[in-house]
Amino acid sequence: SSQQQRKLRQPIVVVLGHVDHGKTTLLDKIRGTTVALKEPGAITQHVGASVVPASVIEKLAEPLKKFLPRFKLIIPGLLFIDTPGHEVFSNLRRRGGSVADFAILVVDIMEGFQPQTYEAIEILRQRRVPFLVAANKIDRIPGWKPHPDQPFLISYRMQKPEVQQRLEELLWNIIGEMYKLGFRADRFDRIKDFTKTVAVVPVSAKTGEGIPELLAVLAGLTQQYLQKRLMYAEGPAKGVVLELREQPGLGVVADVIIYDGILRKGDIIVTGGLEGPVITRVRSLLMPKPLVEIRTAKRELESVDEVVAAAGVRIVAPELEKAVAGAPIFVARDEEEAKELAKKVMEEIEAIRIRTDKEGVIVKADTLGTLEALVEALKKRGIPIRVADVGPIAKRDVIEAVASKQINKYYGVIIGFNVKVLPEAEEEARKHGIKLFVHNIIYKLIEDFEKWYKEQIE
Ligand code: GDP
Ligand code: MG
Repeated sequence: SSQQQRKLRQPIVVVLGHVDHGKTTLLDKIRGTTVALKEPGAITQHVGASVVPASVIEKLAEPLKKFLPRFKLIIPGLLFIDTPGHEVFSNLRRRGGSVADFAILVVDIMEGFQPQTYEAIEILRQRRVPFLVAANKIDRIPGWKPHPDQPFLISYRMQKPEVQQRLEELLWNIIGEMYKLGFRADRFDRIKDFTKTVAVVPVSAKTGEGIPELLAVLAGLTQQYLQKRLMYAEGPAKGVVLELREQPGLGVVADVIIYDGILRKGDIIVTGGLEGPVITRVRSLLMPKPLVEIRTAKRELESVDEVVAAAGVRIVAPELEKAVAGAPIFVARDEEEAKELAKKVMEEIEAIRIRTDKEGVIVKADTLGTLEALVEALKKRGIPIRVADVGPIAKRDVIEAVASKQINKYYGVIIGFNVKVLPEAEEEARKHGIKLFVHNIIYKLIEDFEKWYKEQIE
């Protein structure tokens, strides 16, 4: 409510991009660079996320004073989701949008746009997440002389003119692709109005060049344009289930991202599953123990009493095995509110699942988030859906496909994202000549289906 004191939390940042363009290396570099600063509290490890505090960003941005005057941070830092990629992004879902406040789209400057680059832009657009482009691997430009961990603008000035020229050409390829997709884009230091232009920051995840600007631009843009979104109330927590996992001795635990409020041990939490709502009580909250050295093989978790948004935390509670990844999770003040929230959660989940007796394909996905992304991608292409649900491809999905095939033979197929095909489903599909498309890349799935569809109608 408005009476509650409101503060700014860390923006939640995700990294997307085509395979091998350097997402993992970039996240490692950001963590490594900040740890190397040896600032007290240089980085805080969360479950599934890392926080780079404002003090570190300010220190890294110091050499940029000339270019970025009046650089003062009001956000407490940036929270990076540790696992890059589409799947985790899909699960960071929130009704009509994303829990992610901002995204880094990594593009290998030498390779330019690739299929998953386009796919990433499509899902960022769908979920209305602002982003910048990290034009990565600048150190691979022929003749590039690396200046490790230096700001891009400083290293750039020390390159030969023909190398600078080559970089400009490569940047123009990226800017041109963005333009074709309907975005204005430009090198970050040439932008006047960041609300109309997507910033392109040249970086090398290998040498660390450009990392200071990347962090400064991220922090600057998020605190300037997302302030309202970043205000959190010191009230009951809101979050999303990123992943469910079996933890020996604890049963199924939930790794969640909290984007608002405070989550405490003992709180009543409400989330959702495929069979119905889950109302339970937090038995414990687990967070990584603070460590001096980031590169320790195994991080031990320790129990904490509360976490404040933004946070990545592991929740231990009964009945979490009934939850589904991608589901919202809320703290309820009492049993009555829990029931109301449960209704809301289930409405949200049911809006993503589809069950009709009309013509259309059968869609299965591994989580609620990926199901939503796949359903939206299919709808956008005008492909009708008869059934969409979470889980492995089962015999009853084949039965649905057979029924759909009788209405329209081209739609009597099953499209599965990152799911298993149960043996009896496989057998049943063979028996009825039902085509199965299974993949762990959404655009691949749709491409395969559309190719098959074209062949069929020809
Ligand atoms: P991801 O699939 O997007 O996570 O890509 P990775 O981070 O695994 O990187 C793919 C490959 O590119 C690895 O061999 C990295 O070492 C390499 N790589 C990533 N960033 C850079 C960079 O800035 N410069 C160079 N030269 N290689 C890079
Ligand atoms: Mg990777």
